[in-house]
Amino acid sequence: MGLSSAVNYKHIFSQAIERLHSEGRYRVFIDILRNKGAYPNARCFHGHNGPKPITVWCSNDYLAMGQHPKVVAAMEEALHDVGAGSGGTRNIGGNTHYHVDLENELADLHGKEAALLFTSGYVSNEATLSTLAKLLPGCVIFSDELNHASMIAGIRNSGCEKRVWRHNDLDHLRELLAAEDPETPKLIAFESVYSMDGDIAPIAEICDLADEYNAITYCDEVHAVGMYGPRGGGITDRDAVADRVTIIEGTLGKAFGVMGGYIAADKMIIDCIRSYAPGFIFTTSLSPVLVAGVLASVRHLKQSSVEREGQQAAAAKLKELMREAGLPVMNSVTHIVPLLVGDPVKAKKISDILLAEYGVYVQPINYPTVPRGTERLRFTPGPAHSEEMMRDLVAALVEIWDRMEMELQKAA
Ligand SMILES: *Cc1c(COP(=O)(O)O)cnc(C)c1O
Repeated sequence: MGLSSAVNYKHIFSQAIERLHSEGRYRVFIDILRNKGAYPNARCFHGHNGPKPITVWCSNDYLAMGQHPKVVAAMEEALHDVGAGSGGTRNIGGNTHYHVDLENELADLHGKEAALLFTSGYVSNEATLSTLAKLLPGCVIFSDELNHASMIAGIRNSGCEKRVWRHNDLDHLRELLAAEDPETPKLIAFESVYSMDGDIAPIAEICDLADEYNAITYCDEVHAVGMYGPRGGGITDRDAVADRVTIIEGTLGKAFGVMGGYIAADKMIIDCIRSYAPGFIFTTSLSPVLVAGVLASVRHLKQSSVEREGQQAAAAKLKELMREAGLPVMNSVTHIVPLLVGDPVKAKKISDILLAEYGVYVQPINYPTVPRGTERLRFTPGPAHSEEMMRDLVAALVEIWDRMEMELQKAA
């Protein structure tokens, strides 16, 4: 037997996929096109009978800014003015005036001295956390156990010691901080809104601990920017604690409706990340067309609260209707509406039935995005989801719950 037959690559890869199938968490991407100006209506390509109309219930374009006339117009204008791409990294030819303007706009949004753009929120977390911690000799990172995969990747790539604190548990965080040498550099990393449960971190109290133990803080506001605070600066804006957080991170792809990620902090930190982070340095900068769209979106949401208020009202309404119907809606204090299923196969099945029979698109959320046994459907109602759509959705869910012989909770 030749050496070439010693490893059966095909078998290993097919086994890896088989494991996902057997656990019921093989990912199927739904093929859709959103209808501009008619969000949350979209078309779904499934089978061979042409696109079918659907209602989208799981988009992170929370406020439909991806279709806002100002955003679309700004992108068209930029495209015709400067063309499609940036043509380079920020250092070599790709530092367009749109990028400079947007960084100033984002710094102002968070009341920070400076901001830095990345090609996605994922990259901003990975690049910033890995670089920051490398610059701090002997740094220990304190990470909330429900932190997003992109933060975990950054922490791992920093090569630092990591202490995981129980989700939102200040006593546990204190205990872990107190156990370290006072001379050790410390970084506390957490999110403001946790996007799968819809709960919020005690930011002020975390900052109190950071002060007490001389740590710096890093807050992922991805699911809050655009949506909370009088100007859309996130929970730190709403609670007026932005100045206490060392670094605020956000995305431009969710509530701002386009694409990209960023951090905002003081000038010195931004200068360090700009100068040392490979994930910032060695990649083509965002297309100026995208940046122009984001600029319009951020500027609009700084002075308009209609979208935010519409979203909060829609989320409250949907939670209320689900509770009334006895559906196991989880305890979210935000715009996120998670419905607990607790089983990956069932979650996928409910989602399949909703799409095939009711034209409702909601993706099942399985491990590793959420812990096993907490599989769920995660709804993200926005200002454009009407009460009629919500009532239709809840009726469909009740019918499916019944059909699958799952229990509805009796009204309290
Ligand atoms: C989506 C998400 C990110 C990544 O942002 P992208 O712009 O989509 O790459 C980071 N953190 C959290 C908590 C997220 O949910």
